[in-house]
Amino acid sequence: MSMRMRVAQPPLPLAGEGRGEGGQRPLAPLPNPLPAGGERGKFGLELEVRELRAGYGGLPVLHGISLCAPVGRTTVLVGANGAGKTTLLKTLAGVMSPVSGSVLLDGKPLAGDTPADRVRRGMALVPEGRHLFPDMSVRENLELGGYLASRAQRDKMLEAVIGIFPRLGERLTQAAGTMSGGEQQMLAIGRALMSRPRLLLLDEPSLGLAPKMVDEMFAALARINRDGTTLLLIEQNVFQALAVADYAYVLSHGEMIAAGAAWELRGNDLIRRVYLGEAIAN
Ligand code: ATP
Repeated sequence: MSMRMRVAQPPLPLAGEGRGEGGQRPLAPLPNPLPAGGERGKFGLELEVRELRAGYGGLPVLHGISLCAPVGRTTVLVGANGAGKTTLLKTLAGVMSPVSGSVLLDGKPLAGDTPADRVRRGMALVPEGRHLFPDMSVRENLELGGYLASRAQRDKMLEAVIGIFPRLGERLTQAAGTMSGGEQQMLAIGRALMSRPRLLLLDEPSLGLAPKMVDEMFAALARINRDGTTLLLIEQNVFQALAVADYAYVLSHGEMIAAGAAWELRGNDLIRRVYLGEAIAN
């Protein structure tokens, strides 16, 4: 793409200070560069990704990217098809191993942790395509997400998930595969919440949903975030994702080309033209 902005790593050309979530919550600037050693604690970072390289066999996809997800905030990663967004989430979830670089959750490295270890440490992934068990009931799918918890904790989480997605409560005995796409996405998010994650990773949660369901889904994500879970979502639905996010990163061809407060990226002319297209173009 001819309009690519090349920025230094870590790529944080925008300060990101001022307002977040529609001006409701004050935002600290994204740390630039990512803090090291004793400095890192003061920034309150749930997730830190440093110089991450990953790919498939001989095909490099992520070319040394850095990003962070501040505690209690929503961070969105946007980018065109093939930019490497799913590859990043798979690497964070431990489904793929990085070639080099590091990932820290709550300041501690995740190297060598299996996907199950990462769930135990408070990270949960809502994968692209949902990966539900279609013949199992809604309740059974949800309970699988809480398999590490005690019966009492599972019941409590089930109640909390139904509070966020009442539709799931009305369909607890229904087979997951018979629900609408939007309901299945809610179930996939609910199942991830059953492990009581401190960090929830979401891969294109709005993909293929009707506009009304997309609105509902983003409203639910805002609530989950307000309730204290840090969110990192990747999205092609750039307009709505930037509207709910506090911070945003733009990934292009495996390189981070912009980062900052979501409201700043929304107002950035280049981002508007290249990534938001007609959605908010003048
Ligand atoms: P999309 O939004 O279309 O899913 P993305 O930004 O999530 O795109 P990735 O799915 O991470 O991008 O793909 C990045 C690159 O890696 C693409 O060129 C893709 O062809 C390649 N790729 C993805 N999965 C594999 C795989 N299993 N084996 C080989 N190459 C892969």
